[in-house]
Amino acid sequence: MRFDTQAIHIGRSVDPLTGAVSIPLHTSTTFERGADGSFPSGYEYTRDSNPTRFAFEQAMAALEGGGEGIAFASGMAAIAAVLEAHPPRGRVVLPDDMYFGIRSLIRETDIGRRFEFVPIDMRNLERVRTVVQDKPTGLVWMETPSNPMIRVVDIAAICQIAHEAGALAVVDNTWATPALQRPLDLGADAVVHSATKYIGGHSDMMAGIVVVPAASPLERPLQMIQKHKGSVPAPFDCWLALRGLQTLPVRMRAHCNAALKVAEALSKSPQVEEVLYPGLAGDPGHALAARQMSAFGGMLSFVVKGGEPAAMAAAGRLKLVVRATSLGGTHSLIEHRASVEGPESMAPGGLLRVSVGLEDVQDIIEDLMQALAGSGN
Ligand SMILES: *Cc1c(COP(=O)(O)O)cnc(C)c1O
Repeated sequence: MRFDTQAIHIGRSVDPLTGAVSIPLHTSTTFERGADGSFPSGYEYTRDSNPTRFAFEQAMAALEGGGEGIAFASGMAAIAAVLEAHPPRGRVVLPDDMYFGIRSLIRETDIGRRFEFVPIDMRNLERVRTVVQDKPTGLVWMETPSNPMIRVVDIAAICQIAHEAGALAVVDNTWATPALQRPLDLGADAVVHSATKYIGGHSDMMAGIVVVPAASPLERPLQMIQKHKGSVPAPFDCWLALRGLQTLPVRMRAHCNAALKVAEALSKSPQVEEVLYPGLAGDPGHALAARQMSAFGGMLSFVVKGGEPAAMAAAGRLKLVVRATSLGGTHSLIEHRASVEGPESMAPGGLLRVSVGLEDVQDIIEDLMQALAGSGN
């Protein structure tokens, strides 16, 4: 079965009881024992396992080319679970430009006190090698393309460096999705997602998931964290994730096509200093992204001339593109990352990050252009 077909069918079949084509939503928290006291359905209590969640886990495992999916209540719960499941030794090496929530997780919770976190520019492979060999390293974390600088890092090369040093390599694949990039095929030991973004695809649910290869040392620890710490997604959110998955391949094609057009239009704007998008031939990540991804994604950032005041003013003039956090939905969203992330942010003051939605791309471009020109019409 090919990818687009898997996105619709894996983990789901026509319901034998009712003939329902769309997968039923199972909200029951508890499941009946048979006469001998066993659980003939295989389900017992919904925190341990739930049919709708299991379908989502199976679908994601297949789409990432993995063995097992372990779903969590959010992307951050999935990320925290990986950091907890990871044997408590040594360093965690991670990108200096990364999803801001991870920075907060490290700074504000016990996770940050349990490991030595070393943020570096992972585009520099020699730097990665030096840091993982310098001191015992347990985990190498990747995020590509990155937030908010849209940097691309070499997954296969970094996995190899991590493995040579005896570390596990994990990729946050939220932005690319398995429709564009399959880290397990490139050697990663686990893939993490915020399903809240492109997987759900409509800005109306929250879930996270980790996918590991078959017989992974992370599988059981992650399942135990899921089951006993209990940060599980609601069945309805799993159902929405499954609904989203069915259109993930077509949505990603549309997001990518539109993002390229928006990036090209922005690069021609006299008010724009720089456009960060690996789909542009001049982008430093272009060649690597062309090799590692099947398309360049729906996320881009651009730097407005005149710095923060000009960027804020432009964002304030937008009429269609919504000024809001998050990404991966049907609505185009824009955000000034430096003010959201604070002093540790890599984002220059003039940077605006755009999640290019599924509106007519001409409408998106016209809105951005009028906002940049300050026409106020
Ligand atoms: C949103 C996001 C997360 C966190 O996911 P939540 O579902 O909001 O907890 C993690 N990584 C990346 C790259 C994200 O965009």
